[in-house]
Amino acid sequence: MVDLAVCDRCGLCLPLCPPAAIHLALSDLLVDRQTCTGCRKCVAPCPVGALAMVDA
Ligand code: SF4
Ligand code: SF4
Repeated sequence: MVDLAVCDRCGLCLPLCPPAAIHLALSDLLVDRQTCTGCRKCVAPCPVGALAMVDA
């Protein structure tokens, strides 16, 4: 999930996602849960810690 109160929309995580499940739309960051493989490659690189894995 994305904590939108913390995410500063820097866009850093977008190219890190292998299946391109992260989208920046209308200034909100969205993760497509159907496309996300749960690889966690986006979680640690986020400079503000806005990305976290949650159980489906
Ligand atoms: S890396 Fe973090 S702060 Fe940057 S767009 Fe992604 S979730 Fe938001
Ligand atoms: S966990 Fe992996 S597949 Fe899911 S949004 Fe992050 S980088 Fe993309």
